[in-house]
Amino acid sequence: MRGQLTIVGQGLAGTCLAWRVWSRGQNFRLLHLGEGRSTSVISAGLLTPVTGRNLNPSWRIAEFLDEALGFYREVEGALGEKVFHEIPILRLFANSEERQIFDRKNELLRPLTEAVLAEKDCPCEAPYGGVIWKGGGRLDTRRFLEASGVFFRDLGLIKTENFDPANALNVKQATVMCTGAAGLGGGPFDFLPERRAKGEILTVRIPGQSEDRVLSRNGWMVPLGQSLFRVGSTYSWNDLTDTVTSYGRSQLEKLAGSFTSLPFETVEHVAGVRPIIRQSRPVIGSHPENDNLLIFNGLGSKGVLYAPGVADRLAAYLCERREIEEDLNLGAFLG
Ligand SMILES: Cc1cc2nc3c(=O)[nH]c(=O)nc-3n(C[C@H](O)[C@H](O)[C@H](O)COP(=O)(O)OP(=O)(O)OC[C@H]3O[C@@H](n4cnc5c(N)ncnc54)[C@H](O)[C@@H]3O)c2cc1C
Repeated sequence: MRGQLTIVGQGLAGTCLAWRVWSRGQNFRLLHLGEGRSTSVISAGLLTPVTGRNLNPSWRIAEFLDEALGFYREVEGALGEKVFHEIPILRLFANSEERQIFDRKNELLRPLTEAVLAEKDCPCEAPYGGVIWKGGGRLDTRRFLEASGVFFRDLGLIKTENFDPANALNVKQATVMCTGAAGLGGGPFDFLPERRAKGEILTVRIPGQSEDRVLSRNGWMVPLGQSLFRVGSTYSWNDLTDTVTSYGRSQLEKLAGSFTSLPFETVEHVAGVRPIIRQSRPVIGSHPENDNLLIFNGLGSKGVLYAPGVADRLAAYLCERREIEEDLNLGAFLG
């Protein structure tokens, strides 16, 4: 690695990279814009092994799930507090087609299936039954980022500073841009084919609602404790601001109502932008015009699953010159 490493951005990407470099005993400085200024903070923090209408296991799930779980345990050891909570994720089949897809993919999905539930065993209206996935959980992203920030601040490694992307191509020392959605669609990596998507999310209070599992069907409802639940999330590709909308709120309140018959109250409504690059896969590597400038981006909707493993590969590239795998490498996007 040339000179001192600078990591720009303290979302999931930048924070996981900081831990991976720190655990290798290397020095770095972590720049960010200030507390709470990231999509990662508002994320529900869900780690779900199987997602989407087609019930596909997440890309390279076997490796990245183990790496993520191991990483969060290690970080909890260093921080002295729990940030990752194992919790069953009950996917309710939305219709008979989804149920048929599940049956058809039985062999593929069996290693990720904890139990298949009949309608009568589901906690809300679920005429097609559901499946509980194995290995799911929730990262308390806000605590993970805050506590990591304090940890690195105590070591003198964090600085609040706005990094100017206009000068990025002139950097003389290794600099990794982990700037999420702000780092796509413009700036030095504007050649990456991005498809950023805004998402809105609610926190609702539902007194009396069981808090023993995540419910998922065209969205999800995640228990946070003390009768609070996070409900999300919407997708929109036109408006890429973090402004909440009344349409988003009504969609999400309807979603909450599909998981419970109890009355609820909305206590928070926030929005953020998912950093999505083509194929919804993370991307790391050096800029073609200056190999001191690097990127770690494209965590999409699955930052909790992918950030730890991808950060490890990038740290190995930076500190040990280990080659970056082709399917993660920025080079794949260059002609
Ligand atoms: C509504 C919603 C719900 C989601 N739910 C989940 C979920 O349940 N599970 C899951 O795994 N993922 C979820 N995601 C996706 C997840 O939030 C992202 O994958 C993840 O946050 C991306 O992390 P990041 O570090 O790349 O970007 P960010 O979290 O946006 O971090 C970027 C950082 O860069 C900093 N920065 C930007 N520009 C500069 C600059 N010029 N100078 C200095 N610093 C800068 C910012 O301040 C910030 O700290 C959700 C996303 C949304 C929108």
